[in-house]
Amino acid sequence: MKNIIENISHWELLEIEKPARYLGGEVNQAPAKTAPALRACLVFPDLYELGMSNLAIKIFYETLNRRPDIVAERAFSPWPDFEALLRRRGLPLYGLESGLPLSEFDVIFITLPYEMTFTNVLNILDLAGIPLHWKDRQKGPLVIAGGPSASNPMPVARFMDAVVIGDGEEVITEICDRLIAARQAGATHSEIRGDLKNLEGVWVPEFPGKVRRRVFKGFAASTPPLKMVIPNVQAIHNRAPLEIFRGCMKGCRFCNAGFYYRPKRERPVEDLIRYATELLQNTGEESLGLLSLSTSDYCRLNELVRGLDKAKLYPEQSISIPSMRMNDHTIALLDSTPHIRKGGLTFAPEAGTQRLRDVINKNVTEEDIISVMKATGGSDYRTVKLYFMMGLPFETDEDIEGIVTLVKRLEDIGRTTKPRKQISISLSGFVPKPFTPFQWAEQADMGELKRRRQIVCRGLERGSSRVSWREEYLCLLESVLSRGDERVGALIEAAFKNGCKFDGWHEHFSREKWEKAFVDTGLQAADYLRSRPTSEVLPWDFIDFQVPRAYLEKEFQLAAQAATGGQS
Ligand code: SF4
Repeated sequence: MKNIIENISHWELLEIEKPARYLGGEVNQAPAKTAPALRACLVFPDLYELGMSNLAIKIFYETLNRRPDIVAERAFSPWPDFEALLRRRGLPLYGLESGLPLSEFDVIFITLPYEMTFTNVLNILDLAGIPLHWKDRQKGPLVIAGGPSASNPMPVARFMDAVVIGDGEEVITEICDRLIAARQAGATHSEIRGDLKNLEGVWVPEFPGKVRRRVFKGFAASTPPLKMVIPNVQAIHNRAPLEIFRGCMKGCRFCNAGFYYRPKRERPVEDLIRYATELLQNTGEESLGLLSLSTSDYCRLNELVRGLDKAKLYPEQSISIPSMRMNDHTIALLDSTPHIRKGGLTFAPEAGTQRLRDVINKNVTEEDIISVMKATGGSDYRTVKLYFMMGLPFETDEDIEGIVTLVKRLEDIGRTTKPRKQISISLSGFVPKPFTPFQWAEQADMGELKRRRQIVCRGLERGSSRVSWREEYLCLLESVLSRGDERVGALIEAAFKNGCKFDGWHEHFSREKWEKAFVDTGLQAADYLRSRPTSEVLPWDFIDFQVPRAYLEKEFQLAAQAATGGQS
């Protein structure tokens, strides 16, 4: 069996930044199995450090490797220096565990966490010598995608043998079972695709039809990953993650994740405490990350945090709670538990005025934020980060100026505390996402987003806050890629052929190459950015998202009412 890693010399690796990204052999790597019935490779189309922090990869890795008949390996996007080495030497991309070329696996599962990884997916297939289009794949691995950015699968339809819509951990084993049976029966790729389309949550471009979003109903009773691979290179999140619940019912009208992961399913406190102990034992990590979309909404959070504190394994053990909604209840919790990591406070008010927060159904008031700022005044929290969107539906300049007013109030409070608080503001253009009440809304154009951003920057130029923003063109592009139809696949392919990759990385993103891709394909961004009447058939309407379209429409109307001062 070929092991590609063995073909690369130490001298060659010395020229590469962080070669440990490409060597595998980490602690807790799944042991090799002789003659498995199926070889799967889990691909994360971004750098090792990001992929090794991705929870879906950890879940699938342990789920599949628990099976004695399945081997699951990992592969990530190589940084351009290592890609250049592979291409120069004519070597294909490979699975980290065995060094086996991707083209020799039975199936490749690709997680799509954000749209800006789409060109990386094509680069990975190309580097692996796997045809980009499902139509050209009569042998070799099947390529199956899933993840939040595949909730509208049309832009990637030409590339995928199948796309999973919704939760993946249950259906991934069902897919593997079908593939094992198909392999034994000697089925063709087309026959396999025809079989996979019968699984709930699996959409097959060759046989397009209706599909129902998959919901993992057994989540609460399921065992999370407890023996995760310890990265060779420090990952972006330096903690052992424990998913305490899935789903969020807050109903923020812009939030794709809120609708994608419904309904809310909580793991019991007693189980979580047991899992946490095992997880920390297996990984040697001293920090435990309590993960969910909105951790302060876990119904027994106080009990959980105190229970974890009592069951502490290591003297320096700490807990990090990355997605908190800030209110008095949360502050009381943070104050009462000494082992919670107190790095920084993060709020996502998203909009500058209460009127607009009502429009988007963001349930946080200015007073909530002010009271948290005051309550944590003398605490160890040194930084406060605030996220705002611009270009939201029904937004006016008054709402944008509201951002400035709110931040100035916070600066005044931060100035009086000891130690002083550093405030940073992150601005991003709103992107209307499929399966949200704002899926019909217009995407503000670049000039307008820039004008609104300048209002905030000018308003805060004499203040102490740091302001950063997302480049307007990226917002526009994300809008095209997330609300696109099948033609957008040609755009992604043209961009890849123009040399686009790592589009989420500032140093690699090339607006010129994407603009050329629009010209090459004759597509107009404006066709995808426009507002759409609710009577229009949307490219993703064939998906039963388990959130009725009528409900989304009603929510859109309520947003419009809130904009004019009515009840939301
Ligand atoms: S923005 Fe946060 S609180 Fe709102 S729906 Fe999304 S995940 Fe839930």
